[in-house]
Amino acid sequence: MPPSQRPAKRPRDPNPGHLAPRCGAKTRSGSPCLSPVVRGRKRCRMHGGTNPGAPTGEANGQYRTGLHTHKLMRARSMMRTMVRMITQADR
Ligand SMILES: [Zn+2]
Repeated sequence: MPPSQRPAKRPRDPNPGHLAPRCGAKTRSGSPCLSPVVRGRKRCRMHGGTNPGAPTGEANGQYRTGLHTHKLMRARSMMRTMVRMITQADR
């Protein structure tokens, strides 16, 4: 069959599975797991990739006063940065 009559080649998979990001969980033998990770996460389905994690805020058993929530910690960090910038600008 001349090349002009051959059926068109299937286009290459733009996202081949063997190049997907790999799970880095440590196995019992000490090597990384290397299974493909759950999309948008860092671990495979067997190593908690599908687990949403502990509840946040008051739903978490470690919650006490709310002074250490991500939101407040971020706000304090920003305040420290701003104070540092202002005090250093005076020098
Ligand atoms: Zn894994």
